[in-house]
Amino acid sequence: MELGITDIRQSLKEFFGFDQFKGLQEPIIKSVLERNDTFVIMPTGGGKSLCYQLPALMMPGTALIISPLIALMKNQVDSIRGYSKEEDVAHFLNSSLNKTQARQVRTDVLDGKTKMLFVAPETLTKEENVEFLKKVNVSFVAVDEAHCISEWGHDFRPEYRKIREIIDGIGDRIPIIALTATATPKVRQDIIKNLTMDSVNEFVSSFNRDNLYYEVRSKPSRADAQKSIVQYVKTKPGKSGIIYVQSRKSTEEVANFLKVNDIKAAPYHAGMDSKSRTKVQDDFLMERVDVICATIAFGMGIDKPDVRFVIHYDIPKSIENYYQETGRAGRDGLEGECIAFYSYKDIRRLEKFLRDKSVAEREMGAHLLEEMICYAETSGCRRKFLLHYFGEDYDEQQCKDKCDNCRHPKEKIEATEEMGIGIKAVKTMGENYGEKEVVNFLVGKNTQINRDYKFDQLDGYGIGEEQGENFWNSILRQGVILDYLIKDIEEYGVLKVSDKGEEFLKDPDDVEISIIRDFDKDTEERGNGDVTGGSAVLDETLLKMLKSLRKKVADQNDLPPFVIFQDPSLEDMALQYPLRMEDMTKVSGVSQGKAMKYARPFLDLINEYVEENEIERPDDILIKQVAEKSVKKIAIIKSIDRKIPLEDIAFSTNLTMEDLITEIEMIVASGTKVNIDYYIEDAVDDYSKEDIHDYFMEAETDDPVTAYHELKDDDITIEEIRLMRIKFLSDLGN
Ligand SMILES: [Zn+2]
Repeated sequence: MELGITDIRQSLKEFFGFDQFKGLQEPIIKSVLERNDTFVIMPTGGGKSLCYQLPALMMPGTALIISPLIALMKNQVDSIRGYSKEEDVAHFLNSSLNKTQARQVRTDVLDGKTKMLFVAPETLTKEENVEFLKKVNVSFVAVDEAHCISEWGHDFRPEYRKIREIIDGIGDRIPIIALTATATPKVRQDIIKNLTMDSVNEFVSSFNRDNLYYEVRSKPSRADAQKSIVQYVKTKPGKSGIIYVQSRKSTEEVANFLKVNDIKAAPYHAGMDSKSRTKVQDDFLMERVDVICATIAFGMGIDKPDVRFVIHYDIPKSIENYYQETGRAGRDGLEGECIAFYSYKDIRRLEKFLRDKSVAEREMGAHLLEEMICYAETSGCRRKFLLHYFGEDYDEQQCKDKCDNCRHPKEKIEATEEMGIGIKAVKTMGENYGEKEVVNFLVGKNTQINRDYKFDQLDGYGIGEEQGENFWNSILRQGVILDYLIKDIEEYGVLKVSDKGEEFLKDPDDVEISIIRDFDKDTEERGNGDVTGGSAVLDETLLKMLKSLRKKVADQNDLPPFVIFQDPSLEDMALQYPLRMEDMTKVSGVSQGKAMKYARPFLDLINEYVEENEIERPDDILIKQVAEKSVKKIAIIKSIDRKIPLEDIAFSTNLTMEDLITEIEMIVASGTKVNIDYYIEDAVDDYSKEDIHDYFMEAETDDPVTAYHELKDDDITIEEIRLMRIKFLSDLGN
């Protein structure tokens, strides 16, 4: 068939109404029209499906499109029918059709009405379907999501491995176009080998999405992440976004939290019935809902061009997943922000899921996860890291401010000598070990491997003890990114020295590295932020002013400052800028009663401050907590109201006495008044009561341990102190 460029463009206009091709679409389509085997690697949003849809419409016969997901097929068929006047231009053949429907599809195909037939690989393995397809004039076969062929990909499907054999069974010399949105160099090789596309035309589009901004934030707790998400979403009113989470339960939880804060959000997961799922998709497309909280199932068939942000509430299982999901942002080429929350706790949870898998799957899964950890922790350009992962060279100078690490660069240190030491260590260990083992060698850890293989007697063992593990992890990872070292994927991440690395040992280039982020330390430093906001946007200046106001109010009332408001409450104010009394009651640890008692001067100060500094904080940015006092807490409050002895409450709520006191402390800290006088009456003698009360009146802090040390000579127990502290804070503060 002789087709000129003008014919292709005319057809584009005629069938799809577009004037222009995107990226590599035109040469790809030409290659397919010329009946060549064609391999397309194009990131999500690049216009992949047009590469087979247009030639299918232009060529005689029916194109066979192999696609892994039934749900995806239906969406694609619907969208093609949307462009065409004829319903039967596209069909799918899979297990979801009944006998009559399947017969109709076959008739349409044989009548030559159907230009595209979507099938699942499972469908192709059925003898009757193969027999049927032998009678069809197949123009070409498109293998969509071709990375499913490779077990090194994140989405391996064994039935994809049989595709070549089946195509050969259907007819001679049927051209193939294989397409994927994500493929590492190893996966690429696998696809070409498995489909035996010997003289293939390969089209690799850059994976760089330069309109996307990448950021990773630490996730001290779920509550922190949710707050931070609400604050973020509030800065994008009316914009569409997707929040990816790992579990079905979390979709509900996060969506609920957003809804409480007046954000139009909806959950989406595979466990919902198809009617509800379709409704959520439609609501999102029609912009009745702004934010979808979804498990990975969402978005496969959704092509909303103006998704402005993609948030990963949980870190994904692999870079491929991450890249694909973030790829749903900014498909129209305008801004898209990709923010991922990361904590070791989440990683440990993902590792737990791997335990039930087969050995091979487990090792593969662990390796993919390892890469994800490296991405999250890197201090270098995130874009460079991603592109390197997909086998692309990238100059990070080009990134400018489009990732958090380029926007806020970490200090770099000169590390030429240390890079040499790292590369040598890889060699010393026979290029047989991964990052962890090499680091253990460098810091001289007494491990079984170091002992059994006598590495502890070799040169270089323990040479880097002083710098520590984090430093050497940074060196080795940078070594991989700079191509001095190769991470062998087939051997689950074993490090090898490249030619460039050998060269380096003889004649080193200058190397600078930035140390990877230690997220565990980040989390510790910030404490367990269950009550506190602890977010990065805390207004330190305002916090200082609030603290000095608290001191003043405390002096006026002749009370210690912590009785007025506890530190977490002030921090929350410095985060939320409450401007009205009702806003104040949404601050953590501030009950209605407490607000009425003490909040007025604080509100005045914050109002003045917001005005003077022209802080743009619409009052709806306030974060409302989901009103959820646990069942246990409510039971405790009710029992105290009925003056039931604490020992009995502990027994009936299945808590130890100590845990019960902790629960009551939390109730009081959240601003609720409780009266345990009836219990203290007998439990604490009068002298101790007085001593403890006097102590707290003068104290700088309400910390019970400090109180215990101060009061130890008076024979007062920590339990007595804690009970009195509850009374003290509840009586005076709440
Ligand atoms: Zn960057």
